[in-house]
Amino acid sequence: MGRKFVVGGNWKMNGDKNQINEIVNNLKKGPLDPNVEVVIGVPAIYLAYVKSILPDTISASAQNCWKSAKGAFTGEISPAMIKDVGCEWVILGHSERRAIFGEKDDLVAEKVAHALESGLKVIACIGETLEEREAGKTEEVVFRQTKALIPAIGSNWDKVVLAYEPVWAIGTGKTASPQQAQEVHAALRNWLATNVSAEVAAAVRIQYGGSVTSANAKELAAAADIDGFLVGGASLKPEFVDIVNAKQ
Ligand code: PGA
Repeated sequence: MGRKFVVGGNWKMNGDKNQINEIVNNLKKGPLDPNVEVVIGVPAIYLAYVKSILPDTISASAQNCWKSAKGAFTGEISPAMIKDVGCEWVILGHSERRAIFGEKDDLVAEKVAHALESGLKVIACIGETLEEREAGKTEEVVFRQTKALIPAIGSNWDKVVLAYEPVWAIGTGKTASPQQAQEVHAALRNWLATNVSAEVAAAVRIQYGGSVTSANAKELAAAADIDGFLVGGASLKPEFVDIVNAKQ
């Protein structure tokens, strides 16, 4: 079966109620390709509000969560809470979480495991820095980050989307070329076939993220192993609709 194209918006720490109303109205207006799954990553404090105004055809995602259901973890939110306000997804392991908040592979894996056990679906982010790419370590890094997730995911690969986001392309305006992205996506799929299973490798959706815009989305979407996007800056703009529709 073909892999359904999945486009995520990652608003990061942006938006207020006014802007959120505008973004959601724009998504409602669309029109959005009905063959594409759309998931918007919302700041935690607005999840319930977004859920209350979002059409059922679009999903809302948290951008992070903690690795247990409740307790003395001041400032954190749990997958149980995300579900309680009606949301189904969480983005984990984003490079900003890794770089700014010091999240290592093992913590990301623990979060992924708990989120999946709690019944959430996960967008799990991986990707190399510029330094790592220039040192020829792109695949080594991407495989290491993915390997850490294997025990955490277990048999729940159908609840996981991988987002390959080269760190040097995030928020920089420097998109990976379709060839560069395809090369890593294909290598990762190959690696999954060897290290997980041929079925998982064939079925798992791998998004590309990093300075995706309406200007470059179509060309990227045409690559054989790119199954969607995780979009930061442009997910706050009307052009997000064109990115959702890039596969048409
Ligand atoms: P960007 O961010 O599209 O602004 O580069 C992507 C991301 O961080 O997910």
